[in-house]
Amino acid sequence: MMSSETQPPARVDGRACDQLRPVRFHNGIAPYAAGSTLIEWGRTRVICGVTIEETVPRWMKEQNVTGGWMTAEYSMLPYSTLTRKARDIAKGKIDGRSQEIQRLIGRAMRAAIDLERIGSRTIWLDCDVLQADGGTRTAAITGSYVALSLAIQSLQREGKLAPDAILKPVAAVSVGIVQSQAWLDLSYVEDAAAAVDMNLVMNAAGEYIELQGTGEEASYTEQQLAAMLALGKSGINQLLRCQQAALTSIP
Ligand code: UDP
Repeated sequence: MMSSETQPPARVDGRACDQLRPVRFHNGIAPYAAGSTLIEWGRTRVICGVTIEETVPRWMKEQNVTGGWMTAEYSMLPYSTLTRKARDIAKGKIDGRSQEIQRLIGRAMRAAIDLERIGSRTIWLDCDVLQADGGTRTAAITGSYVALSLAIQSLQREGKLAPDAILKPVAAVSVGIVQSQAWLDLSYVEDAAAAVDMNLVMNAAGEYIELQGTGEEASYTEQQLAAMLALGKSGINQLLRCQQAALTSIP
């Protein structure tokens, strides 16, 4: 038996290092959206809704860019955190963190779709955090893929989009180094204690779309990076399977 000194630190919720928090999707949560889901990932919950406009931004017309466009907005609802988070509108400007996250969601989702083939349309992805307990950006991306797929399926059912269009599955997960251990899918308390925080966005071909890996007053070794990538990849594979199950189950 290991002595208490050599035992790795335990996670608050008793999870193994390579274990995700439970992930569930509640599809169709916003009936007026073209596609929607509520992703419940541990105690983090994000509503992802898709709206489709039959037009493209003016810059695309002016620059003769063909195909469609897709963009994302992210926001934390005032009651999603323990202390009230004021809405951006009340402050008169968009929060820097929200802006960074919504750009990340947009880039991640544009990698999932062939914009040339969606026609002259704009796809809006709205991600609203209902409850935040770490990993809201990874939940927003993982949920957005499901909401987007549902919207694409409905366009196809209506005969507005070729049946062979388009999607390459994309998911995202966080990994971190806490007390020298690499842990998959950090909750808020773990994120706050982490020396290194990494977010991975990957597709089903095992390719990277974005890697954000930051030392918080700390640095990390190549070995730790390899450990984080290995954990992250296994998490992405599990998430891709959850997405697939949510998209093939009968509502
Ligand atoms: N958080 C918060 N208020 C904020 C920003 C963040 O309570 O204004 C919490 C929330 O639980 C969030 C976590 O801090 O999930 C980690 O935030 P981070 O910026 O790392 O983004 P996330 O992990 O949610 O993608």
